[in-house]
Amino acid sequence: MPIYAYACSSCGLQQDVMQKMSDEPLNTCPECGKETFSKQLTAAGFQLKGSGYYVTDFKNKPKAEAAAPCANAASCPVVGS
Ligand SMILES: [Zn+2]
Repeated sequence: MPIYAYACSSCGLQQDVMQKMSDEPLNTCPECGKETFSKQLTAAGFQLKGSGYYVTDFKNKPKAEAAAPCANAASCPVVGS
């Protein structure tokens, strides 16, 4: 069963919570009771065995190909989605 690191943005509580994959994510902080408790994907408690590490920051990376100058659209490399 995976352990998720949660953190509260209101009071700063950090807690590791053991949950099944199918469990609903928590959002209510056990410390202050506000619904600012959220799962932290980058914390040490989030461990994946093997090479399946998800780097979510990559989705924000600018497309380098799109910035390359090209004279006409026909010669441009197709930037896939
Ligand atoms: Zn809290």
